[in-house]
Amino acid sequence: MFMETGNHVHEDTSSEVMAIPAGHHRLPALPYPYNALEPYISEATLRLHHDRHHQAYVNGLNTAELALAEARARHDFSLVRHWERELAFNGSGHILHSIYWTNMSPQGGGEPVGLVLDEIRSYFGSYQAFKEQFSSAALDVQGSGWGVLVWNPAWERMEILTALRHEDLTQWGAIPVLVLDVWEHAYYLDYQNRRGDYIRAWWNLVNWPDVERRVRKARRARVSLDTGEF
Ligand code: FE
Repeated sequence: MFMETGNHVHEDTSSEVMAIPAGHHRLPALPYPYNALEPYISEATLRLHHDRHHQAYVNGLNTAELALAEARARHDFSLVRHWERELAFNGSGHILHSIYWTNMSPQGGGEPVGLVLDEIRSYFGSYQAFKEQFSSAALDVQGSGWGVLVWNPAWERMEILTALRHEDLTQWGAIPVLVLDVWEHAYYLDYQNRRGDYIRAWWNLVNWPDVERRVRKARRARVSLDTGEF
């Protein structure tokens, strides 16, 4: 439960989530044997894809988080752009692969029913229309990437998106709680090209009770890459 009384926000903490500390991400086990998806996806592909590629994203994410922890300790952010890229690329790779494995099943296929079919029909018109757009979007991704069916809580409905590589310097599924617009339109009239001055000034404006409200709401989302609950 979640309710606000004035500036104070109270919530039930009975189902406390366990935070994953920096550098502690693990490769989730495949939810089926390596040969279970044949003949559609071979055992050789799954071994390579899961054991090597997905493991590399987990390792890369851990490395980036630990490097940033060290940067914070040393107050040395000279490589922050590099590590933010690594954080997004590997974090999104880890998240999307974890979903991809559980999105497939040896007993899969056919057409959706019930809620998923209802949501697909209400926005895309029909399952065929959805399938055609999803397939076309995935086929048309330039180079490496993903086709992604999402639920957008802001629209209260589904949408089909694509991702180049894994990310656009973000991590899929992460919920923004504090954002700073550094497009020039946000500061150019006041600070011209002095983005640093704008950022320093901006800290004087941060509405922390609003951030707290968002964090409390976001903490209610239950996600586990290990069990496929996402
Ligand atoms: Fe992959």
